[in-house]
Amino acid sequence: MSEQERTWKCARCGVPLKNTRVIFHYMGRDFGHEVPACPRCGQVLIVRGLAKGRMAQVEELMEDK
Ligand SMILES: [Zn+2]
Repeated sequence: MSEQERTWKCARCGVPLKNTRVIFHYMGRDFGHEVPACPRCGQVLIVRGLAKGRMAQVEELMEDK
């Protein structure tokens, strides 16, 4: 089964966020990763829990390579 994707909205603009590739700096390395960002104002959604999840994903990516 595929994971269900959530649709986030920008709190300021009220428009759906689009996945945008951003660079994370983590453990001395740079990672490109897609995170929800507002297409209008460019605000990137970084929720604490979400950021943790993303970092866990990055760690998984590191182990894969
Ligand atoms: Zn916005």
